[in-house]
Amino acid sequence: MGQVLSKRFGMEEKDMFDVIVIGAGPAGSTAAKVLAERGKKVLLAERCRLPRYKSCSGVLIRKTMDLVETYFGEKVPPQALCTPVDNRGMIFTNDKGKEYRFEQEGQNVWRSSFDHWLAQNAQKCGAVLQDGVSVVKCLEEAGAVRVTLQGERTWTEEAEYVLDCEGITGAVKRGITGERQGHVTTFQTFNRGKIDLDPHYFYAYLQPELSEYDAWFNVKDDLLVLGVSVKNQEKISFYYKRFLSYMEERHGLKISEQLKAEKWLMPHIRPGCPITYARGRILFAGEIAGFLNPMGEGISAGMESAYHAANAIVQHKACPQDVLADYMERTKSLTGYMRRQWDLVAAMAEPFVEMKNVDGTERFKQGGDRHK
Ligand SMILES: Cc1cc2nc3c(=O)[nH]c(=O)nc-3n(C[C@H](O)[C@H](O)[C@H](O)COP(=O)(O)OP(=O)(O)OC[C@H]3O[C@@H](n4cnc5c(N)ncnc54)[C@H](O)[C@@H]3O)c2cc1C
Repeated sequence: MGQVLSKRFGMEEKDMFDVIVIGAGPAGSTAAKVLAERGKKVLLAERCRLPRYKSCSGVLIRKTMDLVETYFGEKVPPQALCTPVDNRGMIFTNDKGKEYRFEQEGQNVWRSSFDHWLAQNAQKCGAVLQDGVSVVKCLEEAGAVRVTLQGERTWTEEAEYVLDCEGITGAVKRGITGERQGHVTTFQTFNRGKIDLDPHYFYAYLQPELSEYDAWFNVKDDLLVLGVSVKNQEKISFYYKRFLSYMEERHGLKISEQLKAEKWLMPHIRPGCPITYARGRILFAGEIAGFLNPMGEGISAGMESAYHAANAIVQHKACPQDVLADYMERTKSLTGYMRRQWDLVAAMAEPFVEMKNVDGTERFKQGGDRHK
């Protein structure tokens, strides 16, 4: 354990954390678990009270299921699953109405229970979990980071490293880098009703007349979930109505009751899939770093990036430059996977052609991957 005593910043002597992890989503909980398991003193700070709500389709692809087993040593517990439990893959309809089927074993979860279970696992391994606590500021000085936390009170902690896994919110990252994350707005509704589609699949629609990004349909515990994503929030209602009409005409959708509607944000991934890795002793992982696969599949990328960031810290703690270099090296295959996935979507649908990664390696070399 890093029982380092510190008088930095003129504060009273107190134990310093090896790492403070921001956000108990899949990325943050994975990192906190790995670090605690490796004997590091870790604080996992989560803004919301757990279990917290996260707008999501809740589809774990095969890769995510494997990562859960590898990193957490267990399968997803029954309490996190919803029906139909087994997801059998994704069906994309492109801008010309052509269907592409990707058959693959997957699972259907409620994110609140799944993420809570991940965070509890990190806690069991020794991470200090504090929910209802926001990180409001990180300041690197004299070989450490001073972190201001706000819950029922405001106080500061010190850590050798901070791993920012705050998700799309981005307020902490903005304070550190000044960068604004581009985003798309998602809007989805949960409904009772009927439809002539197999509930075991996740359906994505890439026609520009139905959304400014994608539209989707899936089933969770007998509820029909319908969503659209837009770049301009004012167009939500316009596209959502069009999507409903399309689903009524093509797939016999009949909604008897809308139970819930929710808006959220998702990073707008740019060509070359740029990643923000780190600023000094503050590393970024998961969505806030830019790890997101096409059509919003982000749990696997979040977990994997955070796992690599945590291991890079463990391996090279004494030298932030080495941590960064190692983190970038470890995520090479993940970023390659992301680019290939986006490339696939670009080849399927004209509106995504800008994501064609023909010169991805060049962009990478020219600084498409932002880091210092
Ligand atoms: C509509 C929609 C559908 C999706 N469907 C899927 C899907 O089916 N499958 C899939 O794999 N992915 C899906 N995604 C993407 C997936 O939800 C994200 O990519 C994933 O949650 C990213 O994980 P993360 O840990 O980086 O961030 P998050 O899961 O967002 O976790 C970040 C955490 O940080 C906390 N936080 C934020 N700021 C602070 C702060 N200042 N201090 C402390 N805590 C803070 C937040 O409260 C949150 O709990 C979907 C996304 C959307 C919007």
